[in-house]
Amino acid sequence: MRVIEPINPKKPELETITEETRIPPKRRHKRKFIIFCFMVFVLLAAVVIVLAGKAQAPNSTSIKSEPKNNVPEIGTQADTKPKQLAVFTPDQFKELYDSIAYPNTTAIQTPPTITGNEAADDRMRQIAEKRGYKLRSIPVSPIVKIGDPNLGDDDLLQEKALEGWKLLKAAANSEGLPLRIVSGYRSPQLQRSIFVSRYNDTGGTAAAAASGQADSIINAILITSALPGYSRHHTGYTIDLQCNNGSLEAFVTSPCFTWISRNNYENAKKTGWIPSYPEGAAQQGPEPEPWEYVWVGVDAVMK
Ligand SMILES: [Zn+2]
Repeated sequence: MRVIEPINPKKPELETITEETRIPPKRRHKRKFIIFCFMVFVLLAAVVIVLAGKAQAPNSTSIKSEPKNNVPEIGTQADTKPKQLAVFTPDQFKELYDSIAYPNTTAIQTPPTITGNEAADDRMRQIAEKRGYKLRSIPVSPIVKIGDPNLGDDDLLQEKALEGWKLLKAAANSEGLPLRIVSGYRSPQLQRSIFVSRYNDTGGTAAAAASGQADSIINAILITSALPGYSRHHTGYTIDLQCNNGSLEAFVTSPCFTWISRNNYENAKKTGWIPSYPEGAAQQGPEPEPWEYVWVGVDAVMK
């Protein structure tokens, strides 16, 4: 068998027909140089990108702080908005008082004894609660001395109320007003002796109270005096005020009252106080008491 050799006499080998062979050496060097420059450029660009990326990469702290700087979180707008004193109707003052969780107090669970006669005491409580009186709270741990020599057993307040009283007094004094405190914390025992002695002074007996014959007398006393357990003074957050040496009843006509009650009790609210039993609120217990104020804190009266 005859083997036919491929006829391919002068065909150059594959590598010899590459472009290089067709490009003159000078241009070949130039092209290599351009490729080299391009490679260097790509390399440098890559390095720059990596470095820039590292510089931008936030650490763990900046991840957390970034939203604060750029995107306001929920509530931020409200927080930055300047707060103002809220305006309350007489009933809203009453609701505000009842809505506050007063620090260092606990609610009185069992009503304290009044006369010792259960039927008489029940009757008195029924009349009081019908007027709007409620069982209040007492301090859990000892409270602080006001240090006023004019005060007796009631020379005590809760710490926050005392701070508030100092601010209120200083504000009044700075306007030349002789605002004074005449009563702070009052224990249920002291309230009991006040109420019982007033009742006894009328000639009232436990039997009369129990039978209902003394209802109108009890009602009359409750206009100004609470039963033991039902006074806001028990909490240590309540004060009675006087203007210089005027009586409690004269307070309403004093310049001190004009100052403290002006513009929806603005001067009281500025230091965290509100009227305890303002004129116009329904079923408060006692009749309005322009001289009595309760500490609720400044935050509670801001909107
Ligand atoms: Zn009072």
